[in-house]
Amino acid sequence: MTVDLHNYVATVENFPEIGVDFRDISPLMGDGLAYKQAIDSIADFAKNLDVDLVAGPESRGFIVGSPLAYALNIGFIPARKGGKLPREAERASYTLEYGGENILEIHKDAIKPGQRVLIVDDLLATGGTINATREIIEKLGGVVAGVAFIIELEALHGRDKIMQAGDVPFLTLMTY
Ligand code: 5GP
Repeated sequence: MTVDLHNYVATVENFPEIGVDFRDISPLMGDGLAYKQAIDSIADFAKNLDVDLVAGPESRGFIVGSPLAYALNIGFIPARKGGKLPREAERASYTLEYGGENILEIHKDAIKPGQRVLIVDDLLATGGTINATREIIEKLGGVVAGVAFIIELEALHGRDKIMQAGDVPFLTLMTY
């Protein structure tokens, strides 16, 4: 049995700012069938990509990436917000969808040169978060094997921004 994942996304008007429709995936994560279906769909996509590691940005990227890595029998790398990692880290900064700057960091020894990394997150908006994650992975010598999201906000053209940084296999389970 499969479910329509759209039924597990709550749209919150004017959050976190007036004029923004926030797509809340909490109902999807809170339902065993929908959550498993979403992760299994990304795992299917990953099967042909020869992936060594999954990486996801803090914090909802952890909710997608950890069960995915478990399903694929490979490791998970968190891209953490600046200043949270205890050991030497590589970093990249990016501009947030609603303004301001953020920093992401990955431990320098998390990726060996040549390892193939699948980047995942709950949602693609402008692409800043994913491109920063990608920048760090590539600085560490990793190869981006693909990118996958539960939701893509098409009007913000994040996909174009990702492809401008270099073509990669791309999966999104829902578009808005
Ligand atoms: P981007 O960097 O692509 O502009 O923004 C994507 C990041 O912001 C993701 O990490 C995502 O979790 C978060 N984000 C932005 N807008 C939304 C939204 O409407 N719903 C959810 N669930 N996350 C969002």
